[in-house]
Amino acid sequence: MKTEILKIQSDNIDNEKIKYAAEVLRGGGLVAFPTETVYGLGADALDENAVKKIFEAKGRPSDNPLIVHIAGKEDVYGLAANVPPKAQILMDRFWPGPLTLVLEKSDKIPSVITAGLSTVGLRAPSHPIALALIREAGIPIAAPSANLSGRPSPTVPKHVIDDLYGRVDVIIDGGNANIGVESTVLDVTADVPVILRPGGVSFEQLKDVLKNVTMDPSLMKKPAGDFVPKAPGMKYTHYSPKADVIVVEGEPEKVAEKINSLIAEYQSKNIPVGVLATEQTKEFYKSVPSITLGDRLEPETIAANLFKAFRDFDDIGIKVIFAEAIDNQGIGLAVMNRMKKAAGYNIIKAV
Ligand code: AMP
Ligand code: MG
Repeated sequence: MKTEILKIQSDNIDNEKIKYAAEVLRGGGLVAFPTETVYGLGADALDENAVKKIFEAKGRPSDNPLIVHIAGKEDVYGLAANVPPKAQILMDRFWPGPLTLVLEKSDKIPSVITAGLSTVGLRAPSHPIALALIREAGIPIAAPSANLSGRPSPTVPKHVIDDLYGRVDVIIDGGNANIGVESTVLDVTADVPVILRPGGVSFEQLKDVLKNVTMDPSLMKKPAGDFVPKAPGMKYTHYSPKADVIVVEGEPEKVAEKINSLIAEYQSKNIPVGVLATEQTKEFYKSVPSITLGDRLEPETIAANLFKAFRDFDDIGIKVIFAEAIDNQGIGLAVMNRMKKAAGYNIIKAV
């Protein structure tokens, strides 16, 4: 397939290019576009054949549901069968933005989107290019992350081109996705809303608005063998680099000490290792490639750099990545969820 790359500046949007990409979407084609979380791979959500192409292009298992992207609250009512008051409050507070609401679906949503579930995930992204594209297309856009299934989500255009060039019709190069981790997925069909995936909107922010909110018990620990996920997609590891990841948690200096002893151990076996470090500890890793994700007290920076770091280590042939754990506060919870999943819950405590 011929892929066209359209360069669009988010602070000076070329409407002709948006019109062109919207036309491709309306015609049943695939368009990768930037959002504020990660890049998305879009198709007309109401066109079953177009949606099937997303699964093919990504190699995505068909039992992993897709999030439907819309321009705002006004688009929810046709797509959801029931919009409880708490969903309205959440939309008013967090949309457009990195919050996906799981609601009962209406008959308009084809079951290929929801992997047969009776619910649908809806989100209004805040990225100006994403919003312009959705508005111009005038249709809801199904869009998972624009990576090959199993690879880390793309946060820069090069990642999308690496994974999907030749597999989709259009890739919009709109600069970096600045949050860097995916949206928070919140199921609001139950009395007490449940976080199915932590993301760009934090647990604390949700707590501010909702009396009650819980986290799915499977989020931070390895699911038991008989685990039946609430959403089929939750059973997939996701987000993994090709390298093995080992998370090391504890006090920063103890962590650095532990990682250095692991480095010595792996290097003696000639295994190329890398370290995901923080500003506080970067000086401790001199003998191996290390990437400083950011300051431990600024989890936003760490979130923005995580997926690119995974890919950068893959590009230089690193086989084992030691990743320093950070606090679960704010977006740190989403960072740790992605790191632990990438590690297959291989977590070492430094004492
Ligand atoms: P991705 O598009 O790759 O960010 O993945 C989307 C994720 O959103 C899936 O893996 C699910 O965990 C979640 N999701 C989408 N739709 C639903 C739904 N109807 N119910 C529960 N989770 C959903
Ligand atoms: Mg994804």
